[in-house]
Amino acid sequence: MDVWVGKSNIGRAPEKALTRAEMKTIEMAEVFGMRSVEDVSGADRAQMKALLVEHVKADAFGMKQGTHRALASALFAEFAVLNLDFEEIAATEMGEARNQGMIAAQEPGAHVRWRDACDGCPSCTALNGKTFRVVAPDSPDRNARTDVWVGKSNIGCVPGPGYGPDDEGYDQAWAQPHWFPAAGLQHVGCRGNWSAIPKADPRVSPEFVEWMDEILRKHHLKPTSPRKIEE
Ligand SMILES: [Zn+2]
Repeated sequence: MDVWVGKSNIGRAPEKALTRAEMKTIEMAEVFGMRSVEDVSGADRAQMKALLVEHVKADAFGMKQGTHRALASALFAEFAVLNLDFEEIAATEMGEARNQGMIAAQEPGAHVRWRDACDGCPSCTALNGKTFRVVAPDSPDRNARTDVWVGKSNIGCVPGPGYGPDDEGYDQAWAQPHWFPAAGLQHVGCRGNWSAIPKADPRVSPEFVEWMDEILRKHHLKPTSPRKIEE
């Protein structure tokens, strides 16, 4: 059980301690929210961002409004006149916040792996299973090809000639200088995500495990087996 300052049953405060990644996801929505949406006024963008933050919070607290569908309907209700693809905006923005949040939750030097969930989208397929180092945004030795950092994004980057989705060679687009692995989504409508690579467990000596198992067996208990190190 966890307790924290201000924990209370008074009112309708959700009774859940957020994980670091969840807290960072909310923070990322507050900082970077709606930057993928083009051609809207500052006031509209701010209002859209407020809706995004609300729904990202709802997601963190496990509430039913915490889906991109719910965000899409809220955006549509407010901004129908703008005639935007709210479904895509909502999915992109929630995914962007989650992925940036995942990166923001890592210690510098940690490693993360990209998992493609776009069903064959060329930029994500090219990155699928690849591992990147997390560095601080102002790290002097950061490398755009091998590192990711909070805020790193392809938003606003247009793949050069010959690298549009219908062009031959699009699958090489990620390798172009202007198309780096992003910390958030790789492109608008992207569904991929990061997973953190756990640090390898400290090695347990096999002799110790044998000794321990011997004792456990004597007491008719289940012997341990060395924990599998996740690859
Ligand atoms: Zn993708």
